[in-house]
Amino acid sequence: MKVVLHICCGVCGIGTIERLHDEGHQITGYFYNPNIHPFEEYERRLKTVNIITKLMNCSLEDASYAPKEWLEQTANLAEEPEGGKRCEVCFRMRLEKTFLYMQEHDFDAFTTTLTIGPQKSAEVINRIGREIGGDKFLVRNFKKQGGFLRANEFAKRFGIYRQNYCGCIYSMR
Ligand code: SF4
Repeated sequence: MKVVLHICCGVCGIGTIERLHDEGHQITGYFYNPNIHPFEEYERRLKTVNIITKLMNCSLEDASYAPKEWLEQTANLAEEPEGGKRCEVCFRMRLEKTFLYMQEHDFDAFTTTLTIGPQKSAEVINRIGREIGGDKFLVRNFKKQGGFLRANEFAKRFGIYRQNYCGCIYSMR
């Protein structure tokens, strides 16, 4: 299938692209992450995603940086813990935009790297993905079968940047 993969960062991209290629899909990466703060960090992650998609023979669409709407939608959720309601809003925004891109460009399906994160609930992400796109959303849990560890090992081997916080201004604390 022709699949749009929402990619949050380089390490997560490595683990998921590998898995989806093994499943026989043709992947286009989609970098839409208005949550990332500050802009320098956004640029760093985008640069890394450019490197890994080239390494893995996968095309990439950069949806450009637009943090204003993200900040507005999460403004009253600043005190939420990581994994709480703010993250659900954050997942939904990114997946909605990926779904629109999928529809506009005649892909068969979409999914996201987000489920590979050890701190992120695949159940919540998959539920949101299905609410947005129905069966066009590929339900996956990329952290299974050591997905995150393998991605980290690959990143270390190739000197790929690995960030130490999720991305938003709140997660920097
Ligand atoms: S902690 Fe991560 S998933 Fe949650 S709102 Fe911040 S950037 Fe988004």
